[in-house]
Amino acid sequence: MTKTILRGAAVLAAVLVVAGGCSSSPQPSSFKQKLVILGFDGMDPRLLERWMDEGKLPTFKKLAAEGGFYRLETSTSPESPTSWASFAVGGNAGKHNIFDFLVRDVKTYVPDLGMVRREMPSFLFDFVPMGKPKAVSLRGGTSFWVTAGRAGVRSSILTVPVTFPPEEVPSGVMLSGLPLPDIRGTVGTFYYFATDLSRYEEGNTEMGGILKRLVFEGDVARTELVGPSNPIISARMQEVRQKQLPHEQERAAMAELEAQRDVTLPFTIRWNRAERTATIEIQDATIRLAEGQWSKWVPLEFRINFLMRVHGMAQFYLIKASDDLQLYISPVNWRPEKPVMPISAPGSFSKDLYDRLGTFRTLGWAEATWPLNEDRIDEKAFMDDLYRAFDDRAQLILQQIDSRKYDLVVGVIESTDRVQHMFWRFIDPTHPMYDAEQAAMWGDAIERVYRRADLLVAEVVEHVEPGTDIVVLSDHGFHSFKHGVNLNTWLIEEGFMARQQQPVGDKNLDDMFGGGGQFWENVDWSRTKAYSLGLGQIYFNMRGREGQGIVSEGEEYKQLADELSARLMTMTDPKTGQRIVTGVYKRDDVYSGPYMANAPDLQVGFADGYRVSWQTSLGGSPPGLLYDNLRKWSGDHCSFDYKGIPGAIITTRKVTSDQVRIIDIAPTVLKYFGVPIPKEMDGKPLF
Ligand SMILES: [Zn+2]
Repeated sequence: MTKTILRGAAVLAAVLVVAGGCSSSPQPSSFKQKLVILGFDGMDPRLLERWMDEGKLPTFKKLAAEGGFYRLETSTSPESPTSWASFAVGGNAGKHNIFDFLVRDVKTYVPDLGMVRREMPSFLFDFVPMGKPKAVSLRGGTSFWVTAGRAGVRSSILTVPVTFPPEEVPSGVMLSGLPLPDIRGTVGTFYYFATDLSRYEEGNTEMGGILKRLVFEGDVARTELVGPSNPIISARMQEVRQKQLPHEQERAAMAELEAQRDVTLPFTIRWNRAERTATIEIQDATIRLAEGQWSKWVPLEFRINFLMRVHGMAQFYLIKASDDLQLYISPVNWRPEKPVMPISAPGSFSKDLYDRLGTFRTLGWAEATWPLNEDRIDEKAFMDDLYRAFDDRAQLILQQIDSRKYDLVVGVIESTDRVQHMFWRFIDPTHPMYDAEQAAMWGDAIERVYRRADLLVAEVVEHVEPGTDIVVLSDHGFHSFKHGVNLNTWLIEEGFMARQQQPVGDKNLDDMFGGGGQFWENVDWSRTKAYSLGLGQIYFNMRGREGQGIVSEGEEYKQLADELSARLMTMTDPKTGQRIVTGVYKRDDVYSGPYMANAPDLQVGFADGYRVSWQTSLGGSPPGLLYDNLRKWSGDHCSFDYKGIPGAIITTRKVTSDQVRIIDIAPTVLKYFGVPIPKEMDGKPLF
């Protein structure tokens, strides 16, 4: 679900933008200190500890002996966008505005994406783009690399989450990470073509795959790859919506536009059954693959009209070519040397990296979690691809260290997070998806990625100048996601939320971004005091704030917060009697700062094993409080009690502070370079 961050913003992806060029060579430095910060998303301190003790992570162990290894308190809530934004600005979410991956329109209660705002371009004569499309980051506050840069610290900031669109870094450079989208403007639309796909399965899946049935005539099948939306058609669709035509008329007009909305690339597959190979012809490329083989990155060009074209690249993977043919195509990544919009600051930096290293994947969500979750690729293909994603980012980090141009290098790799989301079921025998046979094959996959991280840190130690300090950290830990909790259903059962009549249907992502569904069907807002949206957030239905609010500020607000928190703490698993909620955090206790108005009124903290359900995060309320999680997405950190799911930090310096929190990193870096710490930072220097 986090994958939907930019759907609809495909319009952005479809306009040719010339990246503004300026020099990327920083000024000479007056700093003797050198610091490298390596982030491994979701690296869990308990697993680290175990494998360090077993001698499997020798570099981590060595660094920890030199300085220290500590648990790193994460943010409320413990989600990567929130945590990495807290890392950047040294403060709680009230200081940076990223409370969750979703935000809501308070008037209509409809959710929207929480990291970026899209601004559409307009078109002259329906044809010539007037002005550039824009994506505006919703992250507020000032990141430590900007404050340090103003004081002359030269930094290279690489693929840190919540850095798209990129921000100008004084004296430094930045390459964007999440939510940098694919060519369709999503967090990762994959493609799956197969002869054994039924018509019934064809279409767009919940998790953003495009599935197509292949029909061969002899050895040849012709099909097409769906690229970005045509921004001109999208703009026309918006106009039609604004006209408020009679319903039937609007539907007919929209259907006609919808049919021509996507820009597609036709391609041909020639199948050699005897040899179990296939040859794909797409644009100028001819790709010959044997069963089980991946292609290199194939450049693709999508023509909007003769003025506009959009560049992308994808990898092809021939899953099967024997009795059936199955072909997977990765999400179409933006090309680093000619991105759809700038993906770095300065804009030329991504091309500089390309010139030095060759191509690398740019998609913010770099790993193939969605096709694995939907069983379109298997564990082996997922892991082969995940290692390449890891290595793409690792080489960027090493190249930037080798350039000797920077005082501070910050690089984040998220493969550690993705492998734990997908493979937790192999290390937790109590997980509903645990399978002993599969666990025998894949039980060490998470450990192997941790060992790869250890190896990278060993390389970094070799590459840095003598005396460079190294900080390795993660933004949160991991838990088992065994049961989904329908929080809105619970709110209804407990009388905090009311429905007009019958239960509502399941929500899917198209309700949100396809404009097809209706949110909060049958909710009676005139009798609803609280509702849940996103990952464990509860909002009160406030008079004067929400469109149909009934709760008053002051005593009523306070009473509701007290009562609801107390009741949540009594929630138990009907099968085991185990407590499901270990902490409930009230807005004014955990948040402060200029973005308080957007804060949830309560943040629920679940116990290990229980996570808020997908349906709740989209505002749904299916029957039943709990269900067993039968998806491969089996480990998680979102909506768990932040106190029980800390990240980890290993530093070459000893920590002298009594608190070790993610908000402490920003002031630590500033102090390290002798830069005054802005007073709005919540954190304190660690050393
Ligand atoms: Zn995660």
